[in-house]
Amino acid sequence: MKVRVDQKLCVGHGRCYELAPEVYDEDERGHCRLVASSVAPELVASAQRGAVNCPEHAIRVEEEVDP
Ligand code: SF4
Repeated sequence: MKVRVDQKLCVGHGRCYELAPEVYDEDERGHCRLVASSVAPELVASAQRGAVNCPEHAIRVEEEVDP
């Protein structure tokens, strides 16, 4: 799975990296930074937990599409 964060929407509540620090981290402004954009199968639930708890709907967890 692929995770994307829309930095235009992220305001730095920090819920994503507090709930799923194995997927999300914070930058120097407290905004979300991905640990890795590609998520291993065992971390998909964590990625989705962060996404559904983002008040700004800034996170998308999507299937990776082969080129
Ligand atoms: S929960 Fe949403 S708004 Fe808050 S830091 Fe994470 S991505 Fe940004």
